[in-house]
Amino acid sequence: MNRFQDKIEKAHSTARKPRQVMKFGGTSVGDASCIARVVEITRVASRDYSIAVVVSAMGGVTNRLIEAANQSKAGNESAVADIFSELTKRHDEAVKALIHSAAERHCLQAKLHDIFAEGQRLCQGSIVSRELTLRTLDAIAGLGERLCARIVTAALVETGVASEAIDATELVVTDSCHGAAEPAMDLTRARCQSRVLPLLREGILPVVTGFIGATEEGVITTLGRGGSDYSATILGAALDADGVVIWSDVTGLLTADPRLVPEARTIPEISYREAAELAYFGAKVLHPKTLRPVMRRGIPVWIRNTFEPEEEGTKITPGGPPNANADGARALAAIGEASLITVVVPTVNGVSGTSGLSEILARTVATADAVQADVLAIWQSSLRPSSPVNICLVTPSAMATRTVVALRREFFPGQITKKADAAVFDAAVSVITLVGHNLRGVSNIAMRAGAALGQNDVNVIATVHGSSECSLSLVLPQEGMNRALVGIHRELGLGALPTEGPPVHGDENPSACGRASRRRQTEASATVFHTSDLISNPTMQLVGKSADVRGTTSGVPRMKGKLMMSRQARNRGIAEMAADSTAAAAEREILDEATFQRMITRERKRTERSENPFLLMLLDLGHGLPSERQGQVLRKLLTALSSATRETDVTGWYWQNSVVGLMFTEITAEERSSIVTTMMSRVSEVLQSNLSLRQFSKIGMSFHLYPEDWDQETAERPGNPTLYPDLIDREHQQKHLRITKRVMDVIGSGAALLLLSPVFAVIALLTKLTSKGPVIYRQQRLGQFGETFELLKFRSMCCDSDPKIHQEFMKNVIAGTHDGKTPDSDKPVYKMTNDPRITVIGAFLRRSSLDELPQFFNVLKGDMSLVGPRPPLAYEWEEYEIWHRRRVLEAKPGITGLWQTQGRSHVCFDDMVRLDLQYVKTWSLWLDLRILMKTPRAVLMGDDAF
Ligand code: ADP
Ligand code: ASP
Ligand code: MG
Repeated sequence: MNRFQDKIEKAHSTARKPRQVMKFGGTSVGDASCIARVVEITRVASRDYSIAVVVSAMGGVTNRLIEAANQSKAGNESAVADIFSELTKRHDEAVKALIHSAAERHCLQAKLHDIFAEGQRLCQGSIVSRELTLRTLDAIAGLGERLCARIVTAALVETGVASEAIDATELVVTDSCHGAAEPAMDLTRARCQSRVLPLLREGILPVVTGFIGATEEGVITTLGRGGSDYSATILGAALDADGVVIWSDVTGLLTADPRLVPEARTIPEISYREAAELAYFGAKVLHPKTLRPVMRRGIPVWIRNTFEPEEEGTKITPGGPPNANADGARALAAIGEASLITVVVPTVNGVSGTSGLSEILARTVATADAVQADVLAIWQSSLRPSSPVNICLVTPSAMATRTVVALRREFFPGQITKKADAAVFDAAVSVITLVGHNLRGVSNIAMRAGAALGQNDVNVIATVHGSSECSLSLVLPQEGMNRALVGIHRELGLGALPTEGPPVHGDENPSACGRASRRRQTEASATVFHTSDLISNPTMQLVGKSADVRGTTSGVPRMKGKLMMSRQARNRGIAEMAADSTAAAAEREILDEATFQRMITRERKRTERSENPFLLMLLDLGHGLPSERQGQVLRKLLTALSSATRETDVTGWYWQNSVVGLMFTEITAEERSSIVTTMMSRVSEVLQSNLSLRQFSKIGMSFHLYPEDWDQETAERPGNPTLYPDLIDREHQQKHLRITKRVMDVIGSGAALLLLSPVFAVIALLTKLTSKGPVIYRQQRLGQFGETFELLKFRSMCCDSDPKIHQEFMKNVIAGTHDGKTPDSDKPVYKMTNDPRITVIGAFLRRSSLDELPQFFNVLKGDMSLVGPRPPLAYEWEEYEIWHRRRVLEAKPGITGLWQTQGRSHVCFDDMVRLDLQYVKTWSLWLDLRILMKTPRAVLMGDDAF
């Protein structure tokens, strides 16, 4: 087909396709391999949709740019230069890995160079003037998106997708409120339609910078931190898209931030209103204003995970799912760093009585609104009937100073504002918000949330209903937020699967059952296990760091509804609570076994993406200690450990009350070789100086690095089961089914061997007669958890064949560089088709899959199962990406599987691994039977068995 025809074809097919805006966040474009995923997702989606892409800056880049801007203002020239050289290096590495054509690479590098030069010029100006206007700050902060859009565009072009980078300064027209600009939708719409639609019609994929816009005069602005989500929906509305997809690093909107609540689960569908409330109250996955542009047009928004593109994520729709009207909490949001500001009602001004109060309330909200501070909660309080009435108001900490200043100006003009006046003062708090349908109508919801806080020893400062009826906020001291979140999430049964009926509590939730809960089913187990439960000293009972702050604003005055305050808050007084929270020093929580296990699983997945290793250290307390001393030892141990670890490290029970685990996360590749020795000496030093020799000698220590190195010399297994407690646990939970599977395997393979014995005899004879060597070929393969075993096959190759050919071939397949093309087929094939080592009989055996028959012996012996992933060779494992390894770890290998019956050689290696993982995830005896029934047909069709 010539190029002209090609264009017409494209234009026609694009016209029929639904239009979608896809936004990729910072983590999704964090490095070359992430960008490669983005390109793949976009390329595949562009078959069915007409797509416009919106990109954030590469993860962390905006922070560094803002730092560069601030350093410029401070005159730190060298710090600025360091940041720019670091950023240049990072972008350059991505370019080198993604763009293989030298000409394209140089062209792209020149474009990036120009953008960097512009940034350096702006910083230079600021260094000289020692001034940083909001306008300059926006211009510097927005560089990251401009760089990223160009890289993504070039990478798309490299894979054959015609695409063009567009700076949103050409499209999104905003007001001049730098740092939190608002779009002028009509102008934006006109520009998008005239600039973007023609590209879409031509089949050219536009890659637009998120986060930035420009005033009508062309001055660059930004929409606020995390604003690329907002850019995507602005574009979606302006282009009349059929949908907007926000691709991030989480599988949708979850029932809570999964970093804080490991039990959180994906909400399949949710209403605009609930999602907007969650975003406003801290669910960082969505910028708070994201849904505004699409609301009027009813455009659905999806939140999906770039790292798990096979998962559907969350769909945000105008009314939510069909059963959305069921009352109750659907999810929790949290803002870790908020400030409680109290306005003592100035009776001197002659304001009193209810009407006066409501006027003061309105003025308070309006004042906060004027400085673009989000009001998270507001209520009135009085410590005693005779004492003055206070207005208490909570804002994110980043907005607190300007709110306090504005309130002082509003209510106490001309006064010297000393803190001692107690006119307006602030305290550090957190806000947890329950979001769901008609929460005000659910009678016991506040009580249940309160009970969860009580159980977790967290005080409530205030419980406040939101103005929208679908939110209920709890204001609490910062130190209690993490455990309060976990506790409320569990109390409300939010982690339970929707199919499980009414909310389940605590340990009744099967997903929350760890080994400990099985071992001690009569024992109540809290999600967060505090050192204080073992140690009587109350000063020990302090908890770690809270979540991050949102630095965005909202212009809508909120919380006009019913106001209430908890009894605890009234009794204790604000000042006392402030003192409490500042006293909260750096002690950490110790997670219970089930939660810690989930954290290990999560960290493994994180490592699969980032490739940054983590280290799991286990301390076995032993059973020899007299029980009354165990508490003492543990107290010392935990105190010692908290001084040896960082805040990002996670501590928990690997085995409840017997083995403590510590995960040292975010280790860099350079630290990898030295981390074990460093940690071993650091921890043993701390332990030795804190424990008696006898106590120390009772403690067993072990270190487990993930991803595991596989040293063939020492024949250590690649899949260290210690790092997979979840898998071992799952095997344990499914014990009865596993026994049935084993019985099926034994009966099935026994019967097959018996029935097929004449076939065996014939093949043996033919193989013997036609070539030299044994009938059976034995090959070392990796079983579950990397245990090696001898896989049996009928020999189909000459005896002295060279494994290098296959080794090289598999290397290319796994890396995805094998194009799958064969001379006589138009389908891609990922098995070797023209291997010169194959004998005549061998070719027939392989084509008919008869060479695999001896594996029934492997099944009988227990190395393999009838159904499961194909067992790899050692050298294949070595080429695996970290996530590929799960296919070996998660199930016993098998003769046949989903891959053989569904995809066979026609799927690429990544898809084969996905099929294996899908098999493990959806495994049931019925699935095994279905696969077994489909296998004969797949074998007989046999067009792709070689
Ligand atoms: P991106 O770089 O893709 O824009 P963000 O870091 O801005 O991603 O947002 C994703 C993060 O939002 C997640 O990693 C998660 O920790 C956090 N988050 C907070 N609350 C929620 C929630 N309810 N559901 C999903 N993610 C949440
Ligand atoms: N890159 C911008 C930020 O870090 C915008 C975004 O990520 O959405 O805030
Ligand atoms: Mg974001």
